[in-house]
Amino acid sequence: ERTTGDLLVATGITCRFGGLVALDDVGFRIAPGEIVGLIGPNGSGKSTLLSCLSLGRRPDAGKIMLSGKDISRRRPSTVARMGLTRTFQDARVFPELTVLENVLLSRNWTTLPRFGALRGPEESVRERADRLLDLVGIRSMSATHAGELSGGQQRLLELVMAIMPSPKVVMLDEATSGVNPALILELADHLRLLHREENVSFVIVEHNVGFVFGMADRVVVLEQGRVLADGTPDEVKANQEVIDAYLGA
Ligand code: ADP
Ligand code: MG
Repeated sequence: ERTTGDLLVATGITCRFGGLVALDDVGFRIAPGEIVGLIGPNGSGKSTLLSCLSLGRRPDAGKIMLSGKDISRRRPSTVARMGLTRTFQDARVFPELTVLENVLLSRNWTTLPRFGALRGPEESVRERADRLLDLVGIRSMSATHAGELSGGQQRLLELVMAIMPSPKVVMLDEATSGVNPALILELADHLRLLHREENVSFVIVEHNVGFVFGMADRVVVLEQGRVLADGTPDEVKANQEVIDAYLGA
């Protein structure tokens, strides 16, 4: 098992909701620059795992290391400041604020002193916001209220908000849900571009398995709160247990 050089290493993650064991002794790791897909049936624990890894929900057991530091007992805001951000299954933007205001705010709430070295001394916060909005093709809507964007555009805005503070790893929960098929192809291109430009790792949680197999370096399959498989897209596609439990029908 590779651990050195890993950016995020979680071991033994267990999460219960009353009597329901949503995550049962789950291990998860991601290396710098890696794109990891996280798939599995509805209710298999994908969103719960993102919540645990980002400390939005403190796991009942387990340990989470980010850049060699134990973050298991940290607050989510601290974890964000240390370089891990996420989006949510239900897009969370501020509808009454403009697109640009949303992006500037996303930097502030995680910022406060040390956070997120900008790209060079010459790039201001405003320039970074403009550049990222440009990269995903919504800069022309900077002055529009976020609530007026289409579902797909809101997903792009959320993505920019997650990347704005220069995190080391961004976790995307169902980034393609509610996005029309033509825009999904664009979303994949935007993600690849951001990945290249920002030197960031991605965890991509998806029910759209085609999207995941096309993007990810590695795919983790959850089933009923346990890791069923972890391998390259080709390995996972050929895994009989995965086919039987998830991909088959
Ligand atoms: P997925 O994202 O893979 O669809 P979730 O992580 O949302 O799955 O849910 C895993 C399991 O935990 C499901 O059985 C779900 O009903 C349950 N669950 C998730 N969140 C809560 C919660 N806040 N309270 C109670 N049960 C929950
Ligand atoms: Mg979910």
